[in-house]
Amino acid sequence: MSRVYNFSAGPSMLPESVLRKAAEEMLDYQGSGQSVMEMSHRSKTYQSIIDSCSSLLREVMDIPEDYEILFLQGGASSQFAMAPLNLAAKSGSADFVITGQWAKKAFSEAKKLIKAREVASSADKTFTYIPELDPASFDPNADYFHICYNNTIYGTRFVELPDTGSVPLVADMSSCILSEPIDVRKFGMIYAGAQKNMGPAGLTVVIIRKDLIGEPREGTPTMFTYKIHAENGSMYNTPPTYAIYICKLVLEWLKNDIGGLAEMKKINEKKAAMLYDYLDSSKLFKGTVEKKYRSMMNIPFVTGSEELDAEFVKAASAAGFVNLKGHRTVGGMRASIYNAMPVEGVEKLVAFMKEFEAAHQ
Ligand SMILES: *Cc1c(COP(=O)(O)O)cnc(C)c1O
Repeated sequence: MSRVYNFSAGPSMLPESVLRKAAEEMLDYQGSGQSVMEMSHRSKTYQSIIDSCSSLLREVMDIPEDYEILFLQGGASSQFAMAPLNLAAKSGSADFVITGQWAKKAFSEAKKLIKAREVASSADKTFTYIPELDPASFDPNADYFHICYNNTIYGTRFVELPDTGSVPLVADMSSCILSEPIDVRKFGMIYAGAQKNMGPAGLTVVIIRKDLIGEPREGTPTMFTYKIHAENGSMYNTPPTYAIYICKLVLEWLKNDIGGLAEMKKINEKKAAMLYDYLDSSKLFKGTVEKKYRSMMNIPFVTGSEELDAEFVKAASAAGFVNLKGHRTVGGMRASIYNAMPVEGVEKLVAFMKEFEAAHQ
């Protein structure tokens, strides 16, 4: 068996030890005589799985007790609607910073439901930077302020949080959650699709300050109501049971094998620096975004020639470095180097890029 280095933006690599553990427990989860997939979500055994997933996430991310953790479905994309439906029940308005495709989607979905306002955008330079934000331009009466913390497609990230005063800051962290320590207290709500850094697709995690969980806007469907999910321990209906179980294994790996988020950050910084340093020294490949805003997780790069880009992606794939093709809207290449990508994977990719460069002088 040989495993490839998968640079996909998501779903993405999982730690090998997690996959092995899941395989070990596949047919008989801890003497229960069944797979986690087959188990009633109302059973004691399953309750202990979801409880430990939740308490591990609280511990690893240092989530204060006045925040609720919800395990939902529908992807981060459903949060583009759930956030306005639940958080904008007072003034009915929210501010948005447009830093890429996902931020744009969150904004256009909110516009269907509430008064959504664009505060700033980096569309003028194809989202290669994060715009300067002037708090004087923020709406002090907004129900929330939305950012996409790490821009998966363009490869930028916020380096400084906007000062929104008492307006709750809501962040889409789908592609950077668990990659480094963050101060949860600075956010009213954080959400993430799990398939980048937490586990398999099918699970969406919402971390929300408890005082923000109120009555939703009129007409909000039951399944789109945070309050319902909070009151029912994320079990109003059947939760994505197996995805939650894998997320629990990923959190155990982060805590026990890696040693927590501060350690994870060191590893991620090392991986990103290896690739960025090479891009900065290469005559063939170059990074596409402003250095200051470079993402630690998603690294887009180009050769300047579409044919050469295609040749590189093909050759890399044949050599076991897969999914390096850039997003269909951007072109070029993108290496997504989430938590589970080993240091060795990036080392080998850089070595491969150097060889490719030498052969194409
Ligand atoms: C992947 C991604 C999404 C979309 O997630 P789904 O779970 O597929 O809905 C949204 N926002 C960001 C930042 C992403 O990286």
